[in-house]
Amino acid sequence: MTERCRRSFGTSETAHNRLLRSKSDEAVRLGDPTSSSSSRPLISGASFDASSSRVVLNVVPSASPGLASERFEFPGVWLRDNCQCSECFHRGSSSRVLNWETFDVDRARVIDVRVQEGGHALEVLWEEGHRSVYELQWLLDRSFREGDTREYLREWYRPDPVLWGAERFEAGEVLQEFRFQEVLHDDEVLLRWIEALIRYGVVMIKGAPLTEHECRRLAERVGFIRKTHYGEEFIVKAKEGTSNVAYLSTPLQMHTDLPYYDYKPGCNLLHCLVQSTNTVGGENLIADGFYVAERMRHEHPDDFQLLAETLVNWSDLGEDEGGAFHSIYRAPMICIGRDGRLERINHSVPQRDSHFSVPLERVERWYRAMQRFVAILHREAVKFRTSPGDILTFSNVRMVHGRTGYTDTSGNTRHIVGAYLDWDEIYSRLRVLKAAEKKKH
Ligand SMILES: [Zn+2]
Repeated sequence: MTERCRRSFGTSETAHNRLLRSKSDEAVRLGDPTSSSSSRPLISGASFDASSSRVVLNVVPSASPGLASERFEFPGVWLRDNCQCSECFHRGSSSRVLNWETFDVDRARVIDVRVQEGGHALEVLWEEGHRSVYELQWLLDRSFREGDTREYLREWYRPDPVLWGAERFEAGEVLQEFRFQEVLHDDEVLLRWIEALIRYGVVMIKGAPLTEHECRRLAERVGFIRKTHYGEEFIVKAKEGTSNVAYLSTPLQMHTDLPYYDYKPGCNLLHCLVQSTNTVGGENLIADGFYVAERMRHEHPDDFQLLAETLVNWSDLGEDEGGAFHSIYRAPMICIGRDGRLERINHSVPQRDSHFSVPLERVERWYRAMQRFVAILHREAVKFRTSPGDILTFSNVRMVHGRTGYTDTSGNTRHIVGAYLDWDEIYSRLRVLKAAEKKKH
């Protein structure tokens, strides 16, 4: 596992934080109106480097004398593109309104830079006659330094996951629990649930009422339910009559849901209303697909490569409440994002199409690689049973899940209600909550 995967969030360090930390133990936050202006970072020098077309700032942690400065560089064209004046930027919608039809990169030339507001702002004068002013804090938040951009992405784009195997789960280091009513009514708990979901991929919510619309309430606390061709909420329940019991209560092989969607639902919410009373059976199986993929990457790199590069046809054909459907999507089992990070795992025996549109010589090699993936997946899977009132929440792009078989008895029919949430909405809620929390402190 990489160091990056192990690192938890909450430790992110922006250019800001580092500057503040370096100025002694004083607990001062930049932008905090209660902190005196002398205790905030300020520009000790500003210049324009014509050879690189960049504005160079030297920034000290505070006005105290003798502190070392740090260097920040901002490309002229980026500064011009991001002018904050009302002609170029509409504050109400936080949007750039600068006219790009007439924008000329060659004309975005700096003719002078000046330090303003006692070092807390930068003024730039442009050859075209325009004038821009940038708050220092705003600039530091957008630092181009490699460590700073990485920290920004970790803090505000997508925090890093912590990958886990069965051993770690059994040691109690993975599965966190939250109370349903607290998630619903306390923003801080909502934030902690979302953070745990991003970090570990699976989180348990306890104490939900035993009615069929609690997944909806939870989803609406974050954003809104992601609808699929099976509807918005779906019921997992063996129907009366033997013909269905055989099918519905058999073991459910480990899989990810809906791999045949390009925009695959991101997160599962599974609410247990009635659990099987069998002494064994009806247990959830779950494994961290990203952990399995990383193991493959290190232990069987050729197989990893094959699973990451081979497009598999995933499909679903049938009819449900939305009418007839025929979904097909081609994607590898292990999807790597454009930023090089693991993005999505696809695995579903029933929904892997018999159409396998790859060259002949690839077929058997691919099957052997998949067999290896499935073997590690099962070794690293953990088993536990939900109780009535539990909502098991887990990432459908990262976790691979299944269920052991069970038998309903007279008077006890296992009853689960499920729904999906999309990661776009979860990340959005995370940022809104984090920003609100930062404002409070
Ligand atoms: Zn402007």
